[in-house]
Amino acid sequence: MNKKNKKSRSLVVYTLVVIVLFVALFIINQFSKNKDSENQTTAEAPSTISQPVMGNEDAKVSIVEFGDYKCPSCKAWGEQVLPQLKKDYIDSGKAKFSYTNVLFHGEESKLGALAGEAILKSNPDDFWSFHKALFNAQPAANHDDLWITEEKLLEVAKVSVPTLDLEQFRLNFKSSENQESVDLDQKLVQQFNIQQTPTIMINNIVISNPLDYDAIKVAIEQESK
Ligand code: CA
Repeated sequence: MNKKNKKSRSLVVYTLVVIVLFVALFIINQFSKNKDSENQTTAEAPSTISQPVMGNEDAKVSIVEFGDYKCPSCKAWGEQVLPQLKKDYIDSGKAKFSYTNVLFHGEESKLGALAGEAILKSNPDDFWSFHKALFNAQPAANHDDLWITEEKLLEVAKVSVPTLDLEQFRLNFKSSENQESVDLDQKLVQQFNIQQTPTIMINNIVISNPLDYDAIKVAIEQESK
């Protein structure tokens, strides 16, 4: 092979490598774009039986949050998105909202979940008040530090549920029925293969970015038809 041929051959190889790289980058880019913006769907919507429900039980649109009281993004979602959803869709009866416990942060997640389920049993009308108060109690910084203790839960319950019977709350908290409620939530977490909190579902649509209010709106409008 003469020098000129060698040169042109390496030019061809070089060009091919560059083309392959560009194509690969394009494919990766498209893939991550799709992953980011496209909502997945599941075979059915999560059941809300035995779950706390805010709004019209018979609404055509069911919004379910899979959340964790230890999760900072869930606190942010409850502060930034839920009030808007309530105003636009829940108060008007177009959609109902429900919360299912996820235990991604271990023992503290479980204590928070047990407390919520106990309030739901004794004072169902005050569940959302307790729910909000517990997220409010989540420290803005160092949320990984221990903060959900039985003592803290009692304190939050006392303040957010004025008519609470503390003894009843303690009994409910530790009852096997209460544990079964938390177990039921874990079955839903498995059934819907929940990998992150919060996961927001609009009927059977899993919203890819739970903080994207416009994406949630689009899904609700679509499911209202
Ligand atoms: Ca539950």
